Amino acid sequence: MLKGRNAVVTGSTSGIGLAIAHELAANGANVVINGFGDPAAIEKERVNIELEFDVKAHYINADLMNPQATRDFIEQSVKALGSIDILVNNAGIQHTDLIEDFPIERWDAIIALNLSAVFHGSAAALPHMKKQGWGRIINIASAHGLVASATKSAYVAAKHGVVGLTKVTALENAGNGVTCNAICPGWVRTALVEKQIEALAQKNGIDIDAAAKELLAEKQPSLQFVTPKQLGGAAVFLASEAADQMTGTTLSLDGGWTAR
Ligand code: NAD
Repeated sequence: MLKGRNAVVTGSTSGIGLAIAHELAANGANVVINGFGDPAAIEKERVNIELEFDVKAHYINADLMNPQATRDFIEQSVKALGSIDILVNNAGIQHTDLIEDFPIERWDAIIALNLSAVFHGSAAALPHMKKQGWGRIINIASAHGLVASATKSAYVAAKHGVVGLTKVTALENAGNGVTCNAICPGWVRTALVEKQIEALAQKNGIDIDAAAKELLAEKQPSLQFVTPKQLGGAAVFLASEAADQMTGTTLSLDGGWTAR
């Protein structure tokens, strides 16, 4: 479905981003992966994608908390791939604390990566997409882009910001072949959530399995985690022709979280 398309996925050395890169590649797209981690493990992932899906895969290291590094990263990706057709703004971090206890440096880091990097990445990719008359920007927001939870001020503010930015990006590009949509996942069992499960287990003196069940029960009526692969499928759909007229929307994969 995406044969010949060139895709960039930020924060794709693990979790949701890696699964999205896999699903895009499985559908024929060449990919740039990005993020932190053990260089040997990242190289193994990159080679795996090339061998398994018969596409080109590049790894470009960049700290997307830095605005100029984010813009440079997009230009380096365009050079490596030859063009940019699909940009998945996925990189994100989390920190939980009451507002009055929230460390300033954690607030700044979450806003920089979860919100500002989406802006800078899109700003660098849009001229390329507009010139070729086709593009897909897919922002990985969250159920927390639509509703709030206590102790997540920076994350909720950033993700609501991403949903707003998605709408502006869509309006500025309506009719020119470039669409922008946000995917809003509920709980996905990645490193980002594992830390929250561990914290809950410790706080309530329960084991990890019981804490995972409690975490789901509080928010996600299906009582099942969303899988990274399912989110990859949603990204493939948004990049497909079927989604040509879909722009400025949020696509929830949250087991019913935001239906309540
Ligand atoms: P994860 O921790 O598994 O992966 C995060 C990725 O971002 C990693 O590849 C990491 O190396 C990269 N990264 C971190 N800091 C970076 C930086 N400064 N520059 C570049 N890359 C950086 O997390 P995940 O759960 O896969 O989260 C991916 C996205 O999905 C995030 O935006 C997150 O907010 C969102 N999300 C996650 C969940 C969930 O339940 N896990 C739910 C909703 C939304």
